[in-house]
Amino acid sequence: MMQRINLYTVDLIKVKGNGNITCPECGIGISPDDTSEEVYTILEPVMKGNQLQKIVIRCNRCKSTISLTGFSTLNKEPNAQN
Ligand SMILES: [Zn+2]
Repeated sequence: MMQRINLYTVDLIKVKGNGNITCPECGIGISPDDTSEEVYTILEPVMKGNQLQKIVIRCNRCKSTISLTGFSTLNKEPNAQN
C-alpha cells in the first residue's frame, strides 16, 4: 500500500496579519501559539546562527509535512546588522 507524504512550504511573510496558518492539504487552522500538539506536531526547528530560519511541522489530521519559513525576515531589525 502506498502512503503519500505531502510536503508543503508556508511562507509566514505571505500570511501576515493575524498570523493564522491553514494546512495547505486539509485546511485545518494552525495557530503558532498552540503548543498542545493536538493539531500539529513540531518536528524540527531549523536555526541559522541564533536566528530561527524555519520550523518543520506535521499536520496531525492529514499527516502532511509543512515547512514554515519567513522567520528571519520577520525578525529583521533595520539597524541590528553588523
Ligand atoms: Zn492537514
